[in-house]
Amino acid sequence: MSEFDLVIKNGTLVDPERNQMTVGHIGINDGKIAAITRDDIHGKKEIDAGLNIVTPGFIDIHAHIDGYLYSAQCAVLQGITTSVGGNCGFGVFNLEHFFAELGSRKFPLNQAMMIGHTTLRQEVGATDPYKAASKEQVKKMMALLEAAFAQGAIGLSFGLEYSPGASIEEVLALSHIAAKNDKLVAVHTRTDSWAGIGAVKEVVRIAELTGARVQVSHLVYQVGMGMMKEALEVLNDAVEKGLDIGADSGMYHAFGTFIGSAVYNEGCLEKWGCDFNHLFVATGKYAGQRCTREIYDELRANYKDDVVVAFACKEAEVYEALLPEYVMVSTDGAVGSPTPGTGHPQDVGTYPRFFQKMVREQGALSLLEAVKKCTLLPANRLGLYTKGRLKTGCDADIVIFNLNTISDRANYPGIGQPDLTPEGIDYVVVNGEVVVENEKLQDSILPGKPIRDELKRWSWG
Ligand SMILES: [Zn+2]
Repeated sequence: MSEFDLVIKNGTLVDPERNQMTVGHIGINDGKIAAITRDDIHGKKEIDAGLNIVTPGFIDIHAHIDGYLYSAQCAVLQGITTSVGGNCGFGVFNLEHFFAELGSRKFPLNQAMMIGHTTLRQEVGATDPYKAASKEQVKKMMALLEAAFAQGAIGLSFGLEYSPGASIEEVLALSHIAAKNDKLVAVHTRTDSWAGIGAVKEVVRIAELTGARVQVSHLVYQVGMGMMKEALEVLNDAVEKGLDIGADSGMYHAFGTFIGSAVYNEGCLEKWGCDFNHLFVATGKYAGQRCTREIYDELRANYKDDVVVAFACKEAEVYEALLPEYVMVSTDGAVGSPTPGTGHPQDVGTYPRFFQKMVREQGALSLLEAVKKCTLLPANRLGLYTKGRLKTGCDADIVIFNLNTISDRANYPGIGQPDLTPEGIDYVVVNGEVVVENEKLQDSILPGKPIRDELKRWSWG
């Protein structure tokens, strides 16, 4: 007799909302958690968790998958069940078409989308990243932003380091619209390293002046070059003042981005205290090789969209960034839509590495604190109140992992295999369907849903 579609038995259930760990069984029906119990329950399909850790699926608040299948497969293998795209100011403009197409094509995980500032700029002809948009263009962008929210964008993203000429007036005008619609504003700051402290202060000002809910994106990649302590002081002060500000950060000390972007302008190596040897090409013709002056010049001139990884940050600051309560885990994964064998280890390894390093090896965070940073915290930040918790009625997005073995096996191009799948993530369930089973991707199982935010004014909790 099976009362449920799927039953997960004998799990060590970690619920970050009630702040509790307990041993029990979960019954799932129609993609939702229908029961959490110690009674003997049965399902058409059953998984014995064998006392392994059972948590809500991981919500990656900052990624660049944007509907790209291969990167979504990498993501789900590391426990991600919901991915937020359209970050760093880039992404899709026509969200209505995007969501409809994704819904009919089917996808392994749930996909939400921000609307990007640079994307809006393109639409209104403000294509020079070093120039402020005109008043007329700002007005047009404001209207397009309202329309994007109506189409289901979950927030507004800025990539100010990619459009350093954008004026603060332009930024504030759009952030006001986001505040009015109660949408998150995610900011890849205007610059990094020591000047990045001032850029973090600019983000605080956006929250102060507009009342928007604001998020600093991939914190370690902006201020992990030796100034994390000072940057966190700025954020701590803002949080203490009562501003609605959060941040996300990854598990690696080398970031990857487009070689043709302003991030790699002349002078970047001096700023980071690096040389060409610290730059690894991640995609394209020279994938797997270190940069030289010649390769840098050639890529900057002719292959602007190739992704290059810069070893610019300090490893200790990776961990330091993730300690404050308001900082959650994100990948920044899938930059440049990498093909098999290329990319950045964050595409497949961030969450396993987080539990491996910060919980098992360092004991820097308790298991409950760590789970919260991957689930409840991003869910609440995004207003996704049926995700990020283990509770009856919530979406059955669930990860089962072994805390003793969970680890990341991927490595940087040129050093190892950037998409080598992690160890210890035994099962990943998306909307009640098993997408990863015994660490293996079930590539015909595509239960992910487009998440259209429906302009609901969510009440907290
Ligand atoms: Zn970014």
